[in-house]
Amino acid sequence: MGTLLRPPPPPMFSISQRHYSSFTHPLNTQTPPRKVPRRIQSSTFGSFLDLEPVSKPESLDFDLSCLDPSVRSRFDVIIIGTGPAGLRLAEQVSRYGIQVCCVDPSPLSMFPNNYGVWVDEFESLGLEDCLDKTWPMTCVHINDHKTKYLDRAYGRVSRKKLKMKLLEGCVSNGVKFHKAKVWKAEHQEFDSSVVCDDGSEIKASLIVDASGFASTFIEYDKPRNHGYQIAHGILAEVDSHPYDLDKMVLMDWRDSHLEETSLVSRPVLSYMEVKRRMVARLRHLGIRVRSLIEDEKCLIPMGGPLPRIPQSVMAIGGSSGVVHPSTGYMVARTLALAPVLADAIAECLGSTRMIRGQPLYHRVWNDLWPVERRCTREFYSFGMETLLKLDLQCDKGIL
Ligand SMILES: Cc1cc2nc3c(=O)[nH]c(=O)nc-3n(C[C@H](O)[C@H](O)[C@H](O)COP(=O)(O)OP(=O)(O)OC[C@H]3O[C@@H](n4cnc5c(N)ncnc54)[C@H](O)[C@@H]3O)c2cc1C
Repeated sequence: MGTLLRPPPPPMFSISQRHYSSFTHPLNTQTPPRKVPRRIQSSTFGSFLDLEPVSKPESLDFDLSCLDPSVRSRFDVIIIGTGPAGLRLAEQVSRYGIQVCCVDPSPLSMFPNNYGVWVDEFESLGLEDCLDKTWPMTCVHINDHKTKYLDRAYGRVSRKKLKMKLLEGCVSNGVKFHKAKVWKAEHQEFDSSVVCDDGSEIKASLIVDASGFASTFIEYDKPRNHGYQIAHGILAEVDSHPYDLDKMVLMDWRDSHLEETSLVSRPVLSYMEVKRRMVARLRHLGIRVRSLIEDEKCLIPMGGPLPRIPQSVMAIGGSSGVVHPSTGYMVARTLALAPVLADAIAECLGSTRMIRGQPLYHRVWNDLWPVERRCTREFYSFGMETLLKLDLQCDKGIL
C-alpha cells in the first residue's frame, strides 16, 4: 500500500508528538520553561489545534565577526547555511587555519527543529553538555500487552547550547559570517564564487552546501524518488498523562486507537491528516492540553539517490544524502562526519598542499561517501523501500 503509519512515540511527561517512531522528544508538562508566560489557554478535550503556541522563535545575542561586503574577499571555503551541519563543519575546518565564510540570511536565529539523539552519540562527540533533557532508558510498546525496554539513554538537544557552542568555536577560529541568501554558485577551473541576494559576490576555493533538504545547489544523476517522514510535534502543558517520566517512549506500535505516525510514505501523507490523528490519540489517552508552548511541523525527505559524486559544490547535512533512509535521524551522524570532511578539506587546502578544482572535489566527495558508506546506505534504503511496501493490515502479524 505504500504507506507505513505508526503510532507516535508518545512523550514521557507531556505531549511531544513528533510522530517519529525514533526520535520524539518528550517534554515537560510540570514546569514549562521560565520565559514562557504561564498563560492558560483552553482547548476542547484532547484537541490542541485551536491553540496558538505561546513561545516565539528566538534569536541569539552573540557577537559575530561579519564580512564587510564592500571589501573584495576571498576565502578557502564558503559554507552556505548555518544549521547544525554548516556550523559544525565551519567550526571543524577553521581549526586547521582554513579561512571560512558562512553565509546565511539569519545566522543568529535559533535552530528551528527539535533534535532527539542517543546520549552516547553526543558523549562521543564531546557534546553531552548540549543536551537539555536525558532519559536513562527508552521503551518500545510492541502491543497492548508487551513493552520492550532498551538500556540506552536518550537525550533532547538544547538548540541554544548547541548553537552557542558551535558559534563560539567558529568565532574563536576566525570564521566570518555574511548575512544573506545565496542565489547561485559559479565555478572556474580552480575557483568558485557565490552570488547573494544583497548583490555581493564572495570567492573561495571550495563551496560547501549546508542549506538543508531544500537545497538547489546540488545535482543528481537520477530522479529523486525519496520517501517522506511527516510529523507534528507539540510542547504542551497537560492536566495529566499516563507516561513513566524515567523512560523515553521511542516507539509505540499499539493500535488500540487511530494510528497517526507516518514514518515514511511516498507520496507524503497529508499534514492535516497527521494532526487529526494526533488529536484522536490524545483523546484516546485522556490527555487534555492546557497550554501549547511550541509546535513543529516535521517533513523529512528520506532515501532516494545520492548526489552526483563528485561535483563542484560539496555538501553536508540535509543536502548531502546522510539522513538515515529508514528512520530520518541525521543530526548526530552529520556532526560526527563534519570532522572527516574537515580533515579532507585541510589536506587539500591547508598550508602544505594546494589541491584545488577537480582533484579537490573528488577527494572531499569520496571522503564523505566512501564505497563502504554508500553500500550501507543502499542497505538502509532497501529497508525504507521495504517499509513502503508493507501492507499494514496483512503485516500486523509480523510485528
Ligand atoms: C522538524 C524536524 C525535526 C527533526 N528532528 C530530528 C531529530 O530529532 N533527530 C535527527 O537526527 N534529525 C532530525 N531531523 C532531520 C535533520 O537532522 C534536520 O533537518 C537538520 O536540521 C538538518 O540540518 P542541516 O544543517 O543540514 O540543515 P538545516 O537545519 O535545515 O539548516 C539549513 C540552513 O541553511 C540556511 N539556508 C537555506 N538556504 C540558504 C541559501 N540559499 N543561502 C544561505 N543560507 C541558506 C537556512 O537559513 C538554515 O539556517 C529533523 C528535521 C526536521 C525538519
